[in-house]
Amino acid sequence: MNIINNSDKAQKNLLTISETIAKARKIVIKIGSNTLAKEDGTINIEFMENFAKQCSTFIDNRKQVVIVSSGAQVAGISTIDRWARKKDLHYRQALCAIGQVELMDCWRSCFRKFNLHVGQLLLSKDDFGDQHRTLNIRNTLFTLVDEGVIPIINENDSVACDEFSIGDNDNLSALTSILWSADLLILCSDIDGVYSKNPKEYKDAKLIENITDVEKTKKSISIGKANNFGTGGITTKLEAAEKVLEYDVSMILTNGAKPNLLQNLANGTIKATLFSPAQ
Ligand code: ADP
Repeated sequence: MNIINNSDKAQKNLLTISETIAKARKIVIKIGSNTLAKEDGTINIEFMENFAKQCSTFIDNRKQVVIVSSGAQVAGISTIDRWARKKDLHYRQALCAIGQVELMDCWRSCFRKFNLHVGQLLLSKDDFGDQHRTLNIRNTLFTLVDEGVIPIINENDSVACDEFSIGDNDNLSALTSILWSADLLILCSDIDGVYSKNPKEYKDAKLIENITDVEKTKKSISIGKANNFGTGGITTKLEAAEKVLEYDVSMILTNGAKPNLLQNLANGTIKATLFSPAQ
Protein backbone atom coordinates (compact mmCIF):
# COMPACT_ATOMS: atom_id res chain seq x y z
CA MET A 1 0.00 0.00 0.00
CA ASN A 2 1.18 3.50 -0.79
CA ILE A 3 -0.25 5.03 2.34
CA ILE A 4 2.03 6.66 4.88
CA ASN A 5 1.91 4.75 8.15
CA ASN A 6 3.06 5.91 11.56
CA SER A 7 6.70 4.88 11.11
CA ASP A 8 6.83 6.81 7.82
CA LYS A 9 5.45 9.76 9.76
CA ALA A 10 8.47 9.78 12.07
CA GLN A 11 10.85 9.58 9.12
CA LYS A 12 9.12 12.40 7.28
CA ASN A 13 9.06 14.61 10.39
CA LEU A 14 5.37 15.39 10.07
CA LEU A 15 3.56 17.20 12.85
CA THR A 16 1.13 15.27 15.04
CA ILE A 17 -2.54 16.26 15.29
CA SER A 18 -1.91 17.95 18.60
CA GLU A 19 1.09 19.89 17.24
CA THR A 20 -0.91 20.88 14.15
CA ILE A 21 -3.72 22.27 16.30
CA ALA A 22 -1.28 24.03 18.63
CA LYS A 23 0.30 25.74 15.62
CA ALA A 24 -2.98 26.69 13.91
CA ARG A 25 -4.52 30.07 14.64
CA LYS A 26 -7.21 30.26 11.95
CA ILE A 27 -9.37 27.14 11.92
CA VAL A 28 -12.34 26.25 9.70
CA ILE A 29 -14.55 23.51 11.16
CA LYS A 30 -17.07 21.71 8.95
CA ILE A 31 -19.87 19.77 10.60
CA GLY A 32 -21.56 17.15 8.44
CA SER A 33 -25.26 16.29 8.38
CA ASN A 34 -24.66 12.92 10.03
CA THR A 35 -23.07 14.68 13.00
CA LEU A 36 -25.85 17.26 13.30
CA ALA A 37 -28.77 14.85 12.90
CA LYS A 38 -29.90 12.29 15.43
CA GLU A 39 -30.94 8.84 14.21
CA ASP A 40 -34.61 9.89 14.21
CA GLY A 41 -33.75 12.71 11.77
CA THR A 42 -34.10 15.57 14.26
CA ILE A 43 -31.37 18.14 14.94
CA ASN A 44 -28.98 17.16 17.75
CA ILE A 45 -29.18 20.25 19.92
CA GLU A 46 -27.08 18.72 22.75
CA PHE A 47 -24.26 18.20 20.26
CA MET A 48 -24.54 21.81 19.05
CA GLU A 49 -24.44 23.22 22.56
CA ASN A 50 -21.44 21.13 23.52
CA PHE A 51 -19.72 22.08 20.30
CA ALA A 52 -20.33 25.79 20.91
CA LYS A 53 -18.69 25.33 24.33
CA GLN A 54 -15.65 23.69 22.74
CA CYS A 55 -15.36 26.51 20.18
CA SER A 56 -15.49 29.08 22.97
CA THR A 57 -12.54 27.30 24.64
CA PHE A 58 -10.62 27.50 21.35
CA ILE A 59 -11.39 31.22 21.18
CA ASP A 60 -10.24 31.69 24.80
CA ASN A 61 -6.99 30.08 23.62
CA ARG A 62 -6.62 32.83 20.99
CA LYS A 63 -7.78 30.74 18.05
CA GLN A 64 -10.13 32.06 15.37
CA VAL A 65 -12.99 29.84 14.25
CA VAL A 66 -15.18 29.75 11.14
CA ILE A 67 -17.89 27.08 10.98
CA VAL A 68 -19.30 25.44 7.87
CA SER A 69 -22.54 23.82 8.91
CA SER A 70 -24.60 21.32 6.94
CA GLY A 71 -28.03 20.26 8.10
CA ALA A 72 -30.50 22.72 6.52
CA GLN A 73 -32.51 19.99 4.79
CA VAL A 74 -32.52 17.77 7.88
CA ALA A 75 -33.66 20.73 10.00
CA GLY A 76 -36.33 21.56 7.39
CA ILE A 77 -37.79 18.06 7.49
CA SER A 78 -37.84 17.93 11.28
CA THR A 79 -39.36 21.44 11.50
CA ILE A 80 -42.19 21.03 9.04
CA ASP A 81 -42.58 17.27 9.55
CA ARG A 82 -43.56 16.81 5.89
CA TRP A 83 -41.98 16.32 2.46
CA ALA A 84 -39.32 13.87 3.71
CA ARG A 85 -39.86 11.65 0.66
CA LYS A 86 -40.26 14.42 -1.93
CA LYS A 87 -37.38 14.17 -4.38
CA ASP A 88 -38.48 17.17 -6.46
CA LEU A 89 -35.78 19.89 -6.52
CA HIS A 90 -38.20 22.68 -5.58
CA TYR A 91 -39.33 20.82 -2.48
CA ARG A 92 -35.74 20.08 -1.47
CA GLN A 93 -34.86 23.76 -1.94
CA ALA A 94 -37.98 24.79 -0.03
CA LEU A 95 -36.96 22.45 2.82
CA CYS A 96 -33.53 24.10 2.91
CA ALA A 97 -35.16 27.55 3.07
CA ILE A 98 -37.21 26.44 6.09
CA GLY A 99 -34.40 24.47 7.73
CA GLN A 100 -31.68 27.10 7.34
CA VAL A 101 -33.62 29.47 9.62
CA GLU A 102 -34.10 26.72 12.18
CA LEU A 103 -30.46 25.63 11.97
CA MET A 104 -29.17 29.16 12.51
CA ASP A 105 -31.62 29.73 15.34
CA CYS A 106 -30.20 26.64 17.08
CA TRP A 107 -26.60 27.79 16.53
CA ARG A 108 -27.48 31.32 17.68
CA SER A 109 -28.98 30.14 20.96
CA CYS A 110 -26.19 27.60 21.60
CA PHE A 111 -23.39 30.15 21.09
CA ARG A 112 -25.29 32.79 23.08
CA LYS A 113 -24.85 30.58 26.18
CA PHE A 114 -21.11 31.20 25.87
CA ASN A 115 -21.49 34.93 25.14
CA LEU A 116 -20.71 34.55 21.47
CA HIS A 117 -22.60 36.00 18.52
CA VAL A 118 -22.91 34.24 15.17
CA GLY A 119 -23.21 35.62 11.63
CA GLN A 120 -24.56 33.72 8.61
CA LEU A 121 -23.01 33.59 5.14
CA LEU A 122 -24.83 31.62 2.44
CA LEU A 123 -22.46 31.07 -0.46
CA SER A 124 -22.70 29.53 -3.90
CA LYS A 125 -20.27 28.36 -6.57
CA ASP A 126 -20.32 31.67 -8.46
CA ASP A 127 -19.16 33.53 -5.35
CA PHE A 128 -15.79 31.77 -5.50
CA GLY A 129 -15.24 32.52 -9.19
CA ASP A 130 -15.76 36.27 -8.99
CA GLN A 131 -12.99 38.55 -7.72
CA HIS A 132 -15.28 41.21 -6.28
CA ARG A 133 -17.41 38.67 -4.46
CA THR A 134 -14.42 36.79 -3.01
CA LEU A 135 -12.96 40.07 -1.81
CA ASN A 136 -16.26 40.97 -0.13
CA ILE A 137 -16.55 37.52 1.47
CA ARG A 138 -12.96 37.77 2.75
CA ASN A 139 -13.59 41.22 4.21
CA THR A 140 -16.81 40.12 5.88
CA LEU A 141 -15.11 37.05 7.34
CA PHE A 142 -12.16 39.09 8.61
CA THR A 143 -14.48 41.69 10.16
CA LEU A 144 -16.70 39.14 11.88
CA VAL A 145 -13.78 37.14 13.25
CA ASP A 146 -11.82 40.23 14.33
CA GLU A 147 -14.89 41.37 16.27
CA GLY A 148 -15.21 37.99 17.99
CA VAL A 149 -18.28 36.85 16.04
CA ILE A 150 -18.44 33.25 14.73
CA PRO A 151 -19.21 33.12 10.99
CA ILE A 152 -21.41 30.14 10.10
CA ILE A 153 -21.36 29.25 6.42
CA ASN A 154 -23.56 27.01 4.32
CA GLU A 155 -24.19 26.63 0.63
CA ASN A 156 -27.14 28.73 -0.53
CA ASP A 157 -29.11 25.56 -1.28
CA SER A 158 -32.39 27.30 -2.05
CA VAL A 159 -30.74 29.13 -4.94
CA ALA A 160 -27.95 26.82 -6.12
CA CYS A 161 -28.82 23.71 -8.08
CA ASP A 162 -26.93 20.85 -9.68
CA GLU A 163 -24.25 22.05 -12.10
CA PHE A 164 -24.33 25.56 -10.59
CA SER A 165 -23.70 24.32 -7.08
CA ILE A 166 -20.61 23.23 -5.17
CA GLY A 167 -22.78 20.32 -4.09
CA ASP A 168 -21.22 19.36 -0.77
CA ASN A 169 -19.89 21.15 2.26
CA ASP A 170 -16.54 19.31 2.24
CA ASN A 171 -15.56 21.19 -0.91
CA LEU A 172 -17.27 24.37 0.33
CA SER A 173 -15.24 24.28 3.54
CA ALA A 174 -12.03 23.70 1.53
CA LEU A 175 -12.79 26.72 -0.68
CA THR A 176 -13.60 28.76 2.44
CA SER A 177 -10.31 27.71 4.09
CA ILE A 178 -8.36 28.86 1.04
CA LEU A 179 -10.30 32.11 0.71
CA TRP A 180 -9.87 32.98 4.42
CA SER A 181 -6.21 31.81 4.39
CA ALA A 182 -6.90 29.35 7.20
CA ASP A 183 -4.14 27.28 8.81
CA LEU A 184 -6.28 24.23 9.39
CA LEU A 185 -9.54 22.64 8.23
CA ILE A 186 -11.28 20.16 10.53
CA LEU A 187 -13.99 17.99 8.93
CA CYS A 188 -16.34 16.45 11.51
CA SER A 189 -18.04 13.34 10.14
CA ASP A 190 -19.45 10.12 11.63
CA ILE A 191 -16.24 8.09 11.18
CA ASP A 192 -12.82 8.46 12.82
CA GLY A 193 -11.05 9.22 9.54
CA VAL A 194 -10.14 7.68 6.20
CA TYR A 195 -10.09 3.87 6.28
CA SER A 196 -8.65 1.28 3.94
CA LYS A 197 -12.31 0.43 3.13
CA ASN A 198 -15.75 1.56 4.33
CA PRO A 199 -15.74 0.94 8.11
CA LYS A 200 -19.55 0.78 8.12
CA GLU A 201 -19.39 -2.31 5.91
CA TYR A 202 -16.09 -3.94 6.90
CA LYS A 203 -15.06 -4.60 10.50
CA ASP A 204 -11.42 -5.14 9.46
CA ALA A 205 -11.11 -1.69 7.81
CA LYS A 206 -7.94 0.07 8.97
CA LEU A 207 -7.72 3.73 9.96
CA ILE A 208 -5.11 5.71 8.04
CA GLU A 209 -3.68 8.22 10.48
CA ASN A 210 -1.41 10.25 8.20
CA ILE A 211 -1.80 11.24 4.58
CA THR A 212 0.42 13.53 2.55
CA ASP A 213 -0.32 12.26 -0.95
CA VAL A 214 -4.07 12.19 -1.56
CA GLU A 215 -3.72 10.89 -5.12
CA LYS A 216 -1.84 7.81 -3.89
CA THR A 217 -4.34 7.28 -1.07
CA LYS A 218 -7.25 7.34 -3.53
CA LYS A 219 -5.64 4.55 -5.50
CA SER A 220 -4.98 2.39 -2.48
CA ILE A 221 -8.28 2.49 -0.59
CA SER A 222 -11.71 1.26 -1.49
CA ILE A 223 -14.42 3.91 -1.37
CA GLY A 224 -17.86 2.89 -0.16
CA LYS A 225 -21.08 4.87 -0.26
CA ALA A 226 -22.11 7.80 2.00
CA ASN A 227 -24.57 7.52 4.88
CA ASN A 228 -28.24 8.44 5.37
CA PHE A 229 -27.96 12.21 5.51
CA GLY A 230 -24.48 12.54 4.04
CA THR A 231 -23.94 13.92 0.56
CA GLY A 232 -20.38 13.37 -0.54
CA GLY A 233 -19.01 10.42 1.41
CA ILE A 234 -15.26 9.93 1.58
CA THR A 235 -14.74 11.06 -2.04
CA THR A 236 -15.57 14.71 -1.34
CA LYS A 237 -13.44 14.64 1.82
CA LEU A 238 -10.45 13.55 -0.28
CA GLU A 239 -11.29 16.27 -2.83
CA ALA A 240 -11.32 18.84 -0.01
CA ALA A 241 -7.92 17.58 1.19
CA GLU A 242 -6.46 17.87 -2.31
CA LYS A 243 -7.68 21.45 -2.56
CA VAL A 244 -6.37 22.68 0.81
CA LEU A 245 -3.02 20.86 0.74
CA GLU A 246 -2.19 22.72 -2.45
CA TYR A 247 -2.41 25.91 -0.38
CA ASP A 248 -0.42 24.46 2.56
CA VAL A 249 -3.52 24.21 4.74
CA SER A 250 -3.57 21.06 6.90
CA MET A 251 -6.76 19.05 7.27
CA ILE A 252 -8.10 16.67 9.93
CA LEU A 253 -10.94 14.23 9.26
CA THR A 254 -12.46 13.19 12.57
CA ASN A 255 -15.55 11.85 14.30
CA GLY A 256 -17.84 14.70 15.41
CA ALA A 257 -19.61 12.42 17.89
CA LYS A 258 -16.53 12.00 20.12
CA PRO A 259 -17.04 13.74 23.47
CA ASN A 260 -15.08 16.93 23.96
CA LEU A 261 -13.72 16.45 20.44
CA LEU A 262 -11.77 19.67 19.86
CA GLN A 263 -9.95 19.65 23.19
CA ASN A 264 -9.20 15.92 22.95
CA LEU A 265 -7.83 16.37 19.44
CA ALA A 266 -5.70 19.22 20.79
CA ASN A 267 -4.31 17.08 23.59
CA GLY A 268 -3.70 14.14 21.27
CA THR A 269 -6.05 11.60 22.84
CA ILE A 270 -8.26 11.06 19.79
CA LYS A 271 -7.32 9.09 16.70
CA ALA A 272 -8.20 10.71 13.37
CA THR A 273 -6.72 11.21 9.90
CA LEU A 274 -4.29 14.10 9.54
CA PHE A 275 -3.60 15.39 6.04
CA SER A 276 -0.32 17.32 6.03
CA PRO A 277 1.16 19.42 3.24
CA ALA A 278 4.34 17.87 1.81
CA GLN A 279 7.44 19.16 3.63
P1 ADP B 1 -20.87 13.57 6.47
O1 ADP B 1 -22.28 13.98 6.18
O2 ADP B 1 -20.59 13.47 7.92
O3 ADP B 1 -19.87 14.38 5.74
P2 ADP B 1 -20.80 11.28 4.63
O4 ADP B 1 -21.89 10.27 4.80
O5 ADP B 1 -20.87 12.22 3.47
O6 ADP B 1 -20.67 12.05 6.01
O7 ADP B 1 -19.36 10.54 4.54
C1 ADP B 1 -18.88 9.69 5.54
C2 ADP B 1 -19.15 8.24 5.21
O8 ADP B 1 -18.32 7.78 4.16
C3 ADP B 1 -18.83 7.30 6.35
O9 ADP B 1 -19.86 7.19 7.30
C4 ADP B 1 -18.54 5.97 5.67
O10 ADP B 1 -19.61 5.06 5.77
C5 ADP B 1 -18.36 6.35 4.20
N1 ADP B 1 -17.12 5.76 3.64
C6 ADP B 1 -17.05 5.10 2.48
N2 ADP B 1 -15.81 4.64 2.22
C7 ADP B 1 -15.02 5.03 3.26
C8 ADP B 1 -13.64 4.87 3.59
N3 ADP B 1 -12.77 4.22 2.79
N4 ADP B 1 -13.18 5.42 4.75
C9 ADP B 1 -14.04 6.11 5.56
N5 ADP B 1 -15.37 6.29 5.32
C10 ADP B 1 -15.88 5.75 4.18
